Amino acid sequence: MKQSVIHRESYMRDGVTYEIRVVKEGGGLWGRWTCTDCSDDGESSKKCLSVEDAVAVAKSNLRLHHIRNHQ
Ligand SMILES: [Zn+2]
Repeated sequence: MKQSVIHRESYMRDGVTYEIRVVKEGGGLWGRWTCTDCSDDGESSKKCLSVEDAVAVAKSNLRLHHIRNHQ
C-alpha cells in the first residue's frame, strides 16, 4: 500500500527526544513515533482525520513507553 510521510516533528519529554511522523496510508492518517534514545517505536491504532489529531494520538501512544523506560 502506498504511504507517504506528510509531517515530521520532534517532541521532547523529560529530556528524551521523540520523532513524530504523520503518515498517509490507506486513505487515512496515522501518527507514528520513534524514541531517539532507545530506537523503539510505535503508532496510533486509529485512523486520524487531521495532522494535529495524528500528532496528538502519537504523543499519547508513546506515553506508556516513556513511563516504562524513562521514569
Ligand atoms: Zn525510549
